[in-house]
Amino acid sequence: MDEILHLNGKPKGLVFAVSAPSGTGKTTLCSMLSVEFGNIKPSVSYTTRTKRKGEKDGVSYYFINDAEFDKMIKEGEFIEWANIFGKRYGTAYKSVVADNNSLFDILLEIDVQGVERLIKIYRGIKNANRLVTVFITPPSYSDLQTRLLKRGGMSEEELSRRINIAGVEVKKSGIYDYIITNDDLDEAYLKLKSIVIAERCRNKFKLD
Ligand code: ADP
Ligand code: 5GP
Repeated sequence: MDEILHLNGKPKGLVFAVSAPSGTGKTTLCSMLSVEFGNIKPSVSYTTRTKRKGEKDGVSYYFINDAEFDKMIKEGEFIEWANIFGKRYGTAYKSVVADNNSLFDILLEIDVQGVERLIKIYRGIKNANRLVTVFITPPSYSDLQTRLLKRGGMSEEELSRRINIAGVEVKKSGIYDYIITNDDLDEAYLKLKSIVIAERCRNKFKLD
């Protein structure tokens, strides 16, 4: 599968991987980015979790069952996948590989395990698309709890599980290129779009 990331030896679009503890505001911020930047293509992941209110199949995720997920693993269709909160989530190779004529950048909204895996994969591939990683943190755990409650659709037990996992994820944020605190939404968005703009201006031919 590696050769499909080579893009004829020339890096083309960027791959932005954005993570955040569940409830931080990653979906909100990434949707703002997709609205403003028509040339960023959000990757739609596959998941075995059930749909939340307002989510659409093929837009938020491809909602599939365990047998379908197993089949995709077996057939090597995922560049990465992870077990999160007891459900599986995966990024298909085909979602991160733009065709050779594409000028699109790709946006992945994935968890820390997925980013760890992608960093390893991309490091090993010469001339791969450049991976840019961004971690979004909530201003505090109590803000995170408020946001999760506001979004709704989860039990007390699941809520406390997500808060505990948030602590583990924040501890791993050192692997990311950028960190943004999502306190004021507009300010956080300004930071996120500034990263995109700056990364697009990076000199690809800089001498070492
Ligand atoms: P995630 O994708 O990280 O799980 P969401 O984007 O679904 O999080 O946001 C969770 C909830 O928090 C939503 O109700 C959203 O409107 C709200 N939210 C997002 N950013 C902020 C912010 N800066 N201040 C207050 N509420 C926010
Ligand atoms: P949610 O159920 O709240 O939509 O997502 C739960 C977590 O799964 C979030 O941290 C989200 O970023 C992560 N996630 C979504 N898709 C993928 C994926 O394809 N791969 C990985 N590793 N994580 C994903």
